[in-house]
Formats: sequence, structure tokens, C-alpha cells
Amino acid sequence: MNLRLLLLSECNRTCKGCCNKDFDLESLPVCNSFTGYEMVILTGGEPLLKPWLIINTAVAVRAENPTAKIVLYTARSVDPALFVSLLENHLDGITLTLHTRKDVASFITLNNLIKSMPSLAGKSLRLNVFRGINLGDTDLSQWKVKNEIQWIKECPLPSDEVFMRRYSSIQNVPAKLVAAPVRKVFQIIPDKALQAA
Ligand code: SF4
Repeated sequence: MNLRLLLLSECNRTCKGCCNKDFDLESLPVCNSFTGYEMVILTGGEPLLKPWLIINTAVAVRAENPTAKIVLYTARSVDPALFVSLLENHLDGITLTLHTRKDVASFITLNNLIKSMPSLAGKSLRLNVFRGINLGDTDLSQWKVKNEIQWIKECPLPSDEVFMRRYSSIQNVPAKLVAAPVRKVFQIIPDKALQAA
């Protein structure tokens, strides 16, 4: 069984077919244990808007269930350094979705960085490309690619997945819920954000 784990509901996009509109996210059960899952899928919202939540959760999952694969779902490729750092240090894989043509330029920068990093060999990289996006002759050999993606009505959960949330509040995660060492790692970037969280 896999766990789909909502870290936050916040997102910087307003996709017309967003699956989150089909779920009552606030009524999802809060996950109290990571034991027994083969895979934990971190999702949002856009988790990369608050990367310390990803680290906080990955550390907690590893402590409780060291064999579980941890995978991040994201649509954000605009910060390649952050993307590869999380992948290298905390995650087993990332599934990246390109929603619009505007995503292509940042994706190509990210793709070039990934290709230059042998340390990422063995990580799972999946790329969902929405219909209408053309990546031309971009070398996608690092990725398992799904092209021609379209919105799915009502977004049914796979039968081998349960959907829960990580925090009791998914809109405004209190800073006190984020482990101190994680706050220290990110003290330069999100100090203000942590205050706001
Ligand atoms: S990027 Fe994902 S979470 Fe954000 S609005 Fe689009 S589908 Fe929803």
C-alpha cells in the first residue's frame, strides 16, 4: 500500500482541472504513522513552495519506515538547485508535471543540471507533459516520460493508495510543527516564511 500525503494546500497556480477541487482536503485524516507503506508520495498544493515541510516529513518517514520509497509530486522546476538538492539528500524520486509551455525553459535548465550530476543516478525521475507542450529534441533519457497528459475527471485514487494529510492545518502549517534542525538548515531562505507559516 502507498500513502499519498498532503503537506499543504497552497499552490502558486490555478489549474482549471486541479484534482484538489475534487477532494475535501480539510476532512482528510491526519497521518499518525508511516509504518507499513511501500511508498510515501508527498504532494500538495505545491510542496516546493515550502521545502522545509518536505525535509521535515522525509526525515520523519525515514526514522519510522526506512525501507519506504519517498517520492515528491511537483509542478515547479524554477529552482533547479533546490530541486536536485532535495532529490539528492532526501528523496527517492520526483514526478514533475509540465502544465504549460511556460514551464519549458525552466525545465530545460533543470534537465541540464540533472544530466551533469552522476550522484542522481538511481533516483526515479518521472515527467508528465501536458498536451500541447513540445520539448523538441531535448534529451529526456534521465526521465520516464508520459506525454499528452490531460485532466482526468474526478481524479480517482489508485486502489493501492490511501490519501491523508501530514498536518492538522494544511493551509497554514504552524512553524512549531517543523523540526528545529530543519529550521536551521533553511534559516537563510525561509525565516520570514516560517514566521508566516
Ligand atoms: S499545480 Fe497541481 S496543485 Fe497546483 S493548481 Fe495545478 S494541479 Fe493543482
